[in-house]
Amino acid sequence: MIVVGAGPTGLTAALALRHHGLPVTLLEAEPHDRARPGSRALFVHGQTLRRLAAVSPAVADRIAGHGLLWRTRRTLHGGREVYRRSYPPPPPGRPPPFVSLRQVDTERFLLDACLDAGVDVRWGSPVTGVRADHDGVTVHTADRQWRAPFVVAADGARSAVRRALGVALRGPRPEGFHVVVDLADDPDDPVPPVRTLHYEHPAIGRRTVLQVPFAGGGQIDLQCRADDRPEDFATVEAARDWLPTVVPARYRDRILWVARYRFQQVVADRMVDATGRVLLAGEAAHLFPPFGARGMNSGIADAVAAAASIAAADGAGADPSAAVARYAEQRQRAAHHNRDAARAALRHLRPGPAMRLRQRCSAVLAPRVPALGRWLETAPYGPRSGPSAESKY
Ligand SMILES: Cc1cc2nc3c(=O)[nH]c(=O)nc-3n(C[C@H](O)[C@H](O)[C@H](O)COP(=O)(O)OP(=O)(O)OC[C@H]3O[C@@H](n4cnc5c(N)ncnc54)[C@H](O)[C@@H]3O)c2cc1C
Repeated sequence: MIVVGAGPTGLTAALALRHHGLPVTLLEAEPHDRARPGSRALFVHGQTLRRLAAVSPAVADRIAGHGLLWRTRRTLHGGREVYRRSYPPPPPGRPPPFVSLRQVDTERFLLDACLDAGVDVRWGSPVTGVRADHDGVTVHTADRQWRAPFVVAADGARSAVRRALGVALRGPRPEGFHVVVDLADDPDDPVPPVRTLHYEHPAIGRRTVLQVPFAGGGQIDLQCRADDRPEDFATVEAARDWLPTVVPARYRDRILWVARYRFQQVVADRMVDATGRVLLAGEAAHLFPPFGARGMNSGIADAVAAAASIAAADGAGADPSAAVARYAEQRQRAAHHNRDAARAALRHLRPGPAMRLRQRCSAVLAPRVPALGRWLETAPYGPRSGPSAESKY
C-alpha cells in the first residue's frame, strides 16, 4: 500500500496498515531533516488515544506519557472570572481524558512507531500525479513511478492527489484570522497547568484570548477583529509588543513560533475516487477552524478507518468498492458534522451583536446562575458529540 504525506494523518495510516499486516511505502515530499513548525494541533482527545492504542499501544503510551493533562479550566469575561473548575487526577492505570503536546512531538512518536513497524519511508519524494484503475493505483514521483493496490492520500490542505483526482473542497472560507504564539516554559517559573479562555480581554482591545499549556510551554491564541491587520499581530515583532498585555512580560523573550490561522470550513465532495482505490484522509479531505481540536484528531480517525477499510477491501478480491464505501460514507458524515460543529463554535468566538449581548448578559449573571458560566466555558468548542459516536472527530 502507498500512503502519501508524513503528517499525523499519513503516519497514523501507515502505522494502522502495518497493524493489519499490510506492507506500506510512505511517500513524503519534504526531506528527512525538515523542521516542522510550531505547536499547531496540541489537544489529543482521549478517543484519539484509544484509536491509536488499538493500532499501536506503544505510541499511545508515549503520547500520553509526554503530553500534559491540565486539570483546571478558567473562563473570564472582561477581566472577571465567570467559570472555574478543577478535576482530580485520573485514577492510576487509567488513560488520561486528553493530553496537550506539540504536534511536532506527536509526529515524532508516530514516526518512530512507523519505523519500528517496518514502514518504508521515502523522504524527498513529492507525488506529482496518480492514476487509478480497477486493479490498483500508479503514483508518480519525480524520478520513478510506484504501483499499489490502494493509496491513502494524506498530503494535506494543498493535496496534489486530491487535485489529480479532480476532487473539490467545498464550503465557506471566511475572511479573518487568529494568531497563534508558542511560548517556551521559563524553567524557574513554568506556564501554570491551567487552560484559560478570556472573552473581551480588557488589556488587548477586548479581543478574546485563549491560553493553552502544553508539555514544555504554552500556546496563546488571539482572536483578531475583522479589520485587524496581520502585520500588527501576526509577526514575532508584533507579538513581542502585545504579549505582555496578556502574559507576564518575561515571555516576550521566550517566543518559539508565531502563525496566522484562518477559519476554513471545507469538505471534499468525495472521500474516495471512482475506482475505490484512493482514499482521501485528514486535511487532504477537510479543513476546520481549530476550536474543538477537530483538525488532527479527525485526521487520525480518518487514517485508522481508512486502514481498516483497505484491509477489508484487500481481502475482498476484485471489487473493493463495497469495503471502501463504508469509509467514504462514515468519514464524510464525520467531516460534515465536524465542519458544522466548528461553524457553531465560531459563532461564539466571532460573535455578531446579538451573541455578544448574550455573552455579556451571561457573564453578568454567571456568579448567580452557574449554568451561564458553564455555557460561556463550553460553547466556543462546539457540540461535544456527533450524530453517532463513530463519527465523532
Ligand atoms: C499555522 C497552523 C496552525 C494550526 N493550529 C492548529 C490548532 O491550533 N489546532 C488544531 O487542531 N489544528 C491546527 N492546525 C491544523 C493541524 O496542524 C492539521 O489539522 C494537521 O497537521 C493535519 O494533518 P495532516 O497529516 O492531514 O496534514 P499535514 O500535517 O499538512 O501533512 C501533510 C503532509 O503531506 C506532505 N505532502 C504535501 N504534498 C505532498 C506531495 N505532493 N507528495 C508527498 N507529500 C506531500 C507534507 O509535506 C506533509 O508532511 C494548524 C495548522 C497550521 C498550518
